Amino acid sequence: MSSMKSICLYCGSSNDVDPKYLDLAVDLGKTIADRGYRLVYGGGSVGLMGASANSAHLAGGDVLGIMPKFLLSKERIFDLVEHRIVDTMHERKQMMFEESDAFIVLPGGIGTLEEAVEMLSWARLGLHSKPMAFLDVDGFWSPFFELMGHIVEDKFTPAEFLDLFSHATTPTQAIDSLETRIISLK
Ligand code: AMP
Repeated sequence: MSSMKSICLYCGSSNDVDPKYLDLAVDLGKTIADRGYRLVYGGGSVGLMGASANSAHLAGGDVLGIMPKFLLSKERIFDLVEHRIVDTMHERKQMMFEESDAFIVLPGGIGTLEEAVEMLSWARLGLHSKPMAFLDVDGFWSPFFELMGHIVEDKFTPAEFLDLFSHATTPTQAIDSLETRIISLK
């Protein structure tokens, strides 16, 4: 049985994106709830963040949102679910990490990228072994995978680095890959 209880989600906060991205976030939120996992995320009700959290909540799942004070109005805290208010971005990221067992990365902007890359760099340094899955539609993350392949090819990073994350195109595939890797790490 998997020891995974909570999945941390990194994703975009923009509302202006193509609906296909918001649909994927809705689908993911529901799937996380249906499979009995708690969703840990940045606490907002905007963009893919809001879409996934609302969907998990409506499906009866547990959700924990973690938001820094200064973003409360900008990212509109989703107060129908458990939430914690922290002082800094740093504390938010640390708490999201501590409260979860694995990560899913949906399409997003610089904030999403920063959060995902920091967790990969911590894994690369051996600071944790929590698995990560990138979940996308229409190859959104392909340029990122290309860049990761390039840094390995030019020997800035060992090839094992590429095993730290997987690529999924459905929420089920993403969660399956996290479960498999959590079990194989035990
Ligand atoms: P974005 O992908 O740019 O829409 O950002 C997604 C989420 O990441 C938003 O909730 C941002 O507030 C958050 N974010 C951006 N930078 C950081 C950071 N350095 N630490 C924690 N969260 C961040």
